Amino acid sequence: MAELDLASPPPQAALQNLAGMTRAELQAVLAESFGLDGKKARMRANQLWRWIYHYGVTEFGDMTDIAKEMRAGLAERFVIARPEMTERQVSTDGTRKYLLKMGPGIEVECVFIPDVGRAGALCVSSQVGCTLNCTFCHTGTQKLVRNLTTAEIVGQVLAVKDDLEEWPSGDENRRLSNIVFMGMGEPLYNLDNVSKVIEVISDGDGISISRRRITVSTSGVVPEMHRLGEETAAMLAISLHATNDPLRDELVPINRKYPIATLLEACRNYPGVGNARRITFEYVMLKGVNDTDAEARELVRLLKGVPAKINLIPFNPWPGAPYECSSWERIEAFADIVNRAGYASPIRTPRGRDILAACGQLKSASIKKRASEARREASL
Ligand code: SAH
Ligand code: SF4
Repeated sequence: MAELDLASPPPQAALQNLAGMTRAELQAVLAESFGLDGKKARMRANQLWRWIYHYGVTEFGDMTDIAKEMRAGLAERFVIARPEMTERQVSTDGTRKYLLKMGPGIEVECVFIPDVGRAGALCVSSQVGCTLNCTFCHTGTQKLVRNLTTAEIVGQVLAVKDDLEEWPSGDENRRLSNIVFMGMGEPLYNLDNVSKVIEVISDGDGISISRRRITVSTSGVVPEMHRLGEETAAMLAISLHATNDPLRDELVPINRKYPIATLLEACRNYPGVGNARRITFEYVMLKGVNDTDAEARELVRLLKGVPAKINLIPFNPWPGAPYECSSWERIEAFADIVNRAGYASPIRTPRGRDILAACGQLKSASIKKRASEARREASL
């Protein structure tokens, strides 16, 4: 972990990338580059905004309502770029996994899952790797960690919209209707950027994904939860996974800092929470670890008074994982108890398992390759 550096952004490209900027950032950069006053800069920013986020154009030449001279001026200074797509895999169930390159040696994954939410959900990464070491999660075993910038996270959405050919935004029949921050990383350790990303992608004049269709999943970074709700009005998901502190300490080590009672108190106080805006509690089913009937009953008891949905996630194995997934009968028995307590359809069907795209299986291929090279070298 010697190179752990969460704060420093990637090296600046020669031409500044406008894709990923907030309205305010666009306005500021235009005012500065062209010496525009506030009103003119705002007008220009609004024009560009629509081209970038509603129409998805990447060439200034396509911006037909902007004077030719201005377009040339823009092209001299800026680009509208996407992260480079270095790999694209389509699962037998239609799930698409992408590997996107953000810079030298920096790759992240994002996954598009059809038939989730209103139409389909894109699972985005908020960090390269993760500093938290949840014992059942593949991402947590990746050494290289840094926060992704706003542009790098928005870039995932843009690149996938390109691939799905979903421009202009806002089509009734769109396939990408929901965004979940459930890819690599802990979004609440990168809240400044996550908050700006949500501002960009929820804007009705652009990508236009409603805040109610955006879910941020956290392992339980309690001090940032309130700000998440206040700033973004996003839906909240909590990776609970255990019903007592000693077990959660082991599975989700951040629990040692913010134990279950503290976490649930923060949930009760989450801005906007109520029966119409429930918090999702994720619970990974680990064979012989957290999957007894007694634990199902304890889960129900714990969540009393919290407007909650429960999502049971069959454990998705990865190479070298120290756990197994609970049997299907066990998961159903557990789900039955939870169901009878009034929580509907709680089992999350594993998607894209054949391409290691399911929850917790993500880890940059570049890192995997390095690890396998190291093993090969070691065995020589
Ligand atoms: N860091 C955040 C968001 C990313 S993880 C968080 O922990 O909430 C997204 C979800 O996948 C979390 O609920 C996480 O606990 C779960 N997960 C991680 N590894 C998994 C695995 N191998 N099988 C099933 N779910 C897993
Ligand atoms: Fe990080 Fe979430 Fe994986 Fe835990 S489950 S290691 S917090 S990505």
